[in-house]
Amino acid sequence: MSNTPFCPQKRSHAPEELISAVMAVPPKTSLRHAAQDAAKKAFVALYLQPTKPSTELLLVKYMAFLDPFFFFESLCQDVSLHVSQEDPLKPGRHGVFFSSRGEIRIFLNPKGGRRKLDDVLSTLIHEMVHAYLLIFSKKSLAKSPGELYAHDCHGVYWSGLFLSIVNVVRSWHPKLNTFVTRVKSKSSQKAEPNEKESLGLLTKKLTKLSLEEDNGAGGAGDGDEVDIERLFGVEHCSAHEEPY
Ligand SMILES: [Zn+2]
Repeated sequence: MSNTPFCPQKRSHAPEELISAVMAVPPKTSLRHAAQDAAKKAFVALYLQPTKPSTELLLVKYMAFLDPFFFFESLCQDVSLHVSQEDPLKPGRHGVFFSSRGEIRIFLNPKGGRRKLDDVLSTLIHEMVHAYLLIFSKKSLAKSPGELYAHDCHGVYWSGLFLSIVNVVRSWHPKLNTFVTRVKSKSSQKAEPNEKESLGLLTKKLTKLSLEEDNGAGGAGDGDEVDIERLFGVEHCSAHEEPY
């Protein structure tokens, strides 16, 4: 490895490298640590603030704090955030990332219903993970290329990174420690007794991916299946455009 700092903006990374970079714990003296510390404190302060601005402004601020903590400030440069009440084309949709124009869209009131703030915030993280992986990954460098776009872009790479980020956010404050679990859709809640087992399988698949460096093995697609849709309620995020 060179000493060059990780730079996702080069847009030519293996998804494994992108995920490892997000989850790496930097030295306490590093600039990255300082940026993460400031971003985490600002995020938690905003989360606990009793009087909140509009949901749209909140999401802009949350994105501005999540970006330096997890994504090397790469998304606020390349991705625009749009918030609206409902998708006129797919009224049940909660969010979408359009890779061709680098745009995250979040829908606050799908089918006329009002979503809780935690639910909307989880959609923001959901779409930021899509954006990061789809913009900066190079499919040919992936150890399991099919997983990048599998399940409408909710394959092992997306689900592994989303889960890892959610677990970090949960650790930031006791009031966040059930974040995402408590906002899961009804279909996901049905799967709750198996959640631990499913997360274990997912971890196994990710570990397998990271070990299959040079042997040309089939990647994570074989063996037991993880019901990602039930685990994360991804049915509310469909029709991501195929990236370049
Ligand atoms: Zn999605």
